[in-house]
Amino acid sequence: MAKVLLRRIEERRLKTGHQWVFSNEIQDVQGNPENGALVDVYYSGGQYLGTGFYNKHSLFAVRILDRRPIPDLRMLFVERIFSALGLREKVYPERRSFRMVFSESDFLPGLIIDKYNDTYVLQVNTVGMERNLDLIVDVLQRNLNAENIFTRNSPYFRQLEGLEFNDEILLGNDDTQQIDDGKVKYLVNFREGQKTGFYFDQCDNRTFAGELAEGLDVLDAFCNSGGFGLQCAYNGARSVDFVDSSPAEIQHAEINFNHNGFDCDANFITAEVFEYLKNCADEGKKYDMVVIDPPAFAKQKKNIIPAKQGYQKLNRSALKLINNGGYLITSSCSFHITKEDLLDIIKESAYKEEKVLQMIHFNGASKDHPVIPSMPETSYLKFCAFRVFDNPRYEA
Ligand code: SAH
Repeated sequence: MAKVLLRRIEERRLKTGHQWVFSNEIQDVQGNPENGALVDVYYSGGQYLGTGFYNKHSLFAVRILDRRPIPDLRMLFVERIFSALGLREKVYPERRSFRMVFSESDFLPGLIIDKYNDTYVLQVNTVGMERNLDLIVDVLQRNLNAENIFTRNSPYFRQLEGLEFNDEILLGNDDTQQIDDGKVKYLVNFREGQKTGFYFDQCDNRTFAGELAEGLDVLDAFCNSGGFGLQCAYNGARSVDFVDSSPAEIQHAEINFNHNGFDCDANFITAEVFEYLKNCADEGKKYDMVVIDPPAFAKQKKNIIPAKQGYQKLNRSALKLINNGGYLITSSCSFHITKEDLLDIIKESAYKEEKVLQMIHFNGASKDHPVIPSMPETSYLKFCAFRVFDNPRYEA
């Protein structure tokens, strides 16, 4: 097997479990490995570090798969996939749909597998995983009795790896599944939906928000297929307004709403959220709960400053609409915006809008998105729920 020798580097990051070897940490590559091949990595002192997928075109030159040599890659995939599945079955015993494999977080760097009943939707984000796609499909088919397997790849990540963007049907052709989170039912279409079809990362947080919503007038902004608002409807909200800029997603939210047979008032509004919030403020429209769950404003480090401004504008606009004693449910899925950043932004927003906030919950992503403490990159979502009071009255 080809060998990668590292420069004299600060070894702590890799020794404590980080899985990426950066291209500028490499002293020498011996044996001319192909892109995506397995390589053995050694520290400059000659000590073996581990074995992983190599990519000479990427900043992430090696992604470590194991700290021992890998005699049988299929076996490793089987072990890792079943270990990941076991965790989900433990934390979500009532569910058959969840993020089953979350890349580095499940020690399978570059591979995401979302399970929708017996349909598996893959994001293959590295050359190493792409080269071994047949093995992965074989494991899903033979060891897990998969009925359908699709890829819904991320153009952004594939481009970073020098991979072409393509989506494939690898098994079956049933492209719609009904899934549920134990309460709400969703119809998911894998050809039309965004990402792999459903945002599993907010599942636990939707449940939390929904349980506050009985009798409330709710705005679900950036609703996508309706996750937050549907949970609120399930829990007896008085009304829910669903807002998203994508007409397809608004239609999707409406289909899901009707499919569940909820009878609260609901409006399905295709609109740009910043504009919608401004119009509400101009018209004096108010809500008891405003949910804002925008896409990542800071995908890259260089966008941090405009992203912070964007989050502040959004949270200020949301706060304006919230009745005294109501709820602000707000999230950021930008890795580059830290928890402290977000809380500072919200604190500042409340000050400027003359509101007093009481934080009642802070969370990351759902339990099917585990975090590796030595790899901060595995943690990206910040979710917070606040009660909102008009200053200076503190009572609801
Ligand atoms: N809350 C959703 C996930 C939101 S994903 C859930 O629980 O499933 C972000 C959504 O924001 C996407 O559906 C996207 O179409 C929408 N979006 C992005 N920018 C927008 C904008 N400026 N105004 C309105 N919607 C927007």
